[in-house]
Amino acid sequence: MTIEIPIKFITPHKIEDTHLLDDGDNTGDVSSIISGTHEVIEDGPYTVFRMKNTGQQLVYSNFTNGIYDTNLNSLSEVTPQDEKWDEIQSHVKKKTKSNTPIWLRILFGHACNYSCSYCLQKDIGNPDERSKIWTLDSFIDTVKTKLDLSQTEKIDLWGGETMLYWKSITPIIDEFDREGMQWYFATNGTPLRQKHIDYMSKIKGIGLFGISHDGPGHVSLRGKEFLWDPITIEVLKNMQKNREKIRFSFNPVVTATNYDLFAINNFFRDYMLEVGLDPDLVTISYTLGRVHADEDHDGSVSMDHVIRGDDLKKFKDILDRYIECQIEQAHGIADHGLLRSNIFHNGPRSVLGYGETFQKQILPNISTVCGADDDQVLSVDVAGNVRTCPHVDDSFISGTLNKLEDVVIKKVDYSRYDKHCKVCPVYRLCKSNCPINVPDFVFLTNCALEKVWNKAIQRGAFKAIFGSDAELVESGLNETTITKYRS
Ligand code: SF4
Ligand code: SF4
Repeated sequence: MTIEIPIKFITPHKIEDTHLLDDGDNTGDVSSIISGTHEVIEDGPYTVFRMKNTGQQLVYSNFTNGIYDTNLNSLSEVTPQDEKWDEIQSHVKKKTKSNTPIWLRILFGHACNYSCSYCLQKDIGNPDERSKIWTLDSFIDTVKTKLDLSQTEKIDLWGGETMLYWKSITPIIDEFDREGMQWYFATNGTPLRQKHIDYMSKIKGIGLFGISHDGPGHVSLRGKEFLWDPITIEVLKNMQKNREKIRFSFNPVVTATNYDLFAINNFFRDYMLEVGLDPDLVTISYTLGRVHADEDHDGSVSMDHVIRGDDLKKFKDILDRYIECQIEQAHGIADHGLLRSNIFHNGPRSVLGYGETFQKQILPNISTVCGADDDQVLSVDVAGNVRTCPHVDDSFISGTLNKLEDVVIKKVDYSRYDKHCKVCPVYRLCKSNCPINVPDFVFLTNCALEKVWNKAIQRGAFKAIFGSDAELVESGLNETTITKYRS
């Protein structure tokens, strides 16, 4: 079933209602997207925080990703700008694509055997594995002749339901597999079988399976439960026995009716303990349900499913509590039975990952969060089209692999930083959200949710490092206005 996105329920005059204005973040006051002028706004890289235990005020800079005292003396270890950072900067903010991708994302098609309530795909229902796609051989030839994969670290395989395309996947792995290559499969989990394990356990690279499952919200949001099927349990156990070659995570989408992180965590922990899987070997990779306005945007979430309004405050409290419990658990103060997650442990946007970058003042990469603007992140389909990303419909086809030099990525907006995000304390984490063109009120709805999510991670990083709750005093300060906080 296709869900029409009920964007009419959000009217522009409600934009401010979607922003939590209970702290000193002044994004809403200076944004030219909110004011409607769409002009470039002034820089305001500094945010002042107050540590609740001591009253000490600390300054964070979006530009350097460093922590300072109020006289702007650095409190971080300063990691110097290096060649690698310069090299990364030369590849971002682009609409062109390079023939030396670091990360290649391949879309096979939109076939899926499930009908998740917030997914907007159309080709759904048939659970049968599809035959090898007729363009596949020529696609592989084109990749071999047009791309240089010698630097490629990761190849993502996307559907629809990715595993339904197994007959088209194995020829690609056979051709391009090598030592160290990460093969990522986004799957709803239901088609996973022993044959997939048998094949993946013999490859040179490693297979990473992200299993989309919403924990306690799964049946109402996605459909029939399958985790207790004996075949699934057996397959997951065998994956855990082959960890050198195969790993899996559970990937719930956090939405308006399913944002209790404790309930989601406990669902997966209890499930694994019950069936004999090892919870210590599994990460929960939470995805924030964001709204997109194009109706073929699979993986996106309709407005009704996005956390907004009063629920934002409740979600903020849950996030704070969840991160606090993770900190207690990490310090051995209490065992809350929380699994590893991308909120706290894994990746540069987690509490620990982000905390490390500002403790060491590692310069932030100013790119989109998904790499859509990175010329070395390439999304293609097996017809040889280059796409903005794997989650978009055909209107986002931006050229072909055969004429890669002519590709200009379509329907993206990189101007939001200049109009709205310059003064945001969590710009380093959110990076202006998804770059795809959407109406302003859709962007602002996502922004409000991103702020709640990323500010909790930022507060958590302060707490993990400084041992105290941190309170945001004021954002958007520049070299002149910061002086009022001088001690
Ligand atoms: S452009 Fe990036 S953030 Fe937006 S849907 Fe595609 S992958 Fe996700
Ligand atoms: S960086 Fe993200 S959270 Fe911050 S203002 Fe921009 S969209 Fe909103």
